Amino acid sequence: MIKTIGVIGAGQMGSGIAHVCALKGYAVRLVDVDAGALEKALKTIDRNIGRQVKRSVVADADRAAALKRIATSTELKSLADCDLVIEAATENEEVKKQILRQLCPVLGKDALIATNTSSISITRLAAATDRPPKFMGMHFMNPVPLMELVELIRGLATDDATYTAIKDLAVKLGKKPASAEDFPAFIVNRILLPMINEAVYTLYEGVGSVEAIDTAMRLGAHHPMGPLELADFIGLDVCLAVMQVLYEGLADSKYRPCPLLVKYVEAGWIGRKAGRGFYDYSGDKPVPTR
Ligand code: NAD
Repeated sequence: MIKTIGVIGAGQMGSGIAHVCALKGYAVRLVDVDAGALEKALKTIDRNIGRQVKRSVVADADRAAALKRIATSTELKSLADCDLVIEAATENEEVKKQILRQLCPVLGKDALIATNTSSISITRLAAATDRPPKFMGMHFMNPVPLMELVELIRGLATDDATYTAIKDLAVKLGKKPASAEDFPAFIVNRILLPMINEAVYTLYEGVGSVEAIDTAMRLGAHHPMGPLELADFIGLDVCLAVMQVLYEGLADSKYRPCPLLVKYVEAGWIGRKAGRGFYDYSGDKPVPTR
């Protein structure tokens, strides 16, 4: 029975996962190496629950109760009493493996571990733990409080009890699960990220401006956000990391990351979280940077 949930990484996704778990009554332990990220996450969660209260999706009384259920720490040892830990740190295989190696000795032997990775092999990450049968992918979408889907990905060794427990949790969190096999980037990002990468190529080759590309896809394909706007929202670093995993994992040149995407990441213009990506977010309204 899952009662206490640990979340590692208090960025966009970790804070969203902590938000939905706390609102549904779970005790949450949120861990990040960066104390500033933890502080920011609590503010973001408070503000976002506040929005849900305004829209009457959440009762005002539940706001303070949910926040009280979230404890923060910069130490993995604060996760010792967790029934499940969801890893949502930076999309880098070595970082994730290092976290998993340090986490396992801290946990009880029956604790489950899930990863929110967008693209990295679940089977390979599982091999960095002492419990591959109790490890799987639980891939939330961004923004977590609003998006209905959770992709469930079993590694080669994931047992049925773990799969069922994580699937039940997803449903309890108000999400709709969809199962994907353990291939690079699973389902959503296998389809979505090459489209975003192609939009960056379209910009790179001068086929259209940022504004023209986003307008074209919003009005011409009825996408709620243009692909470059969406890339900024996801984070260009995350987009590039997923394209690299697709490129290397499937060994097909059609997945090569656009050099312009690489350049933006190298410049630190990684989207909304940095205040600048394909748009500049420093003013009242986003302004295209090309
Ligand atoms: P982010 O950059 O917003 O946050 C990552 C956080 O991890 C940072 O606060 C960082 O300090 C922390 N971190 C790094 N190393 C750590 C360590 N050793 N221990 C603890 N914390 C550590 O990234 P994000 O967008 O929240 O992505 C997190 C994960 O979720 C990635 O695996 C990503 O692929 C996945 N994901 C992202 C999206 C998206 O749209 N951004 C969607 C679904 C899944």
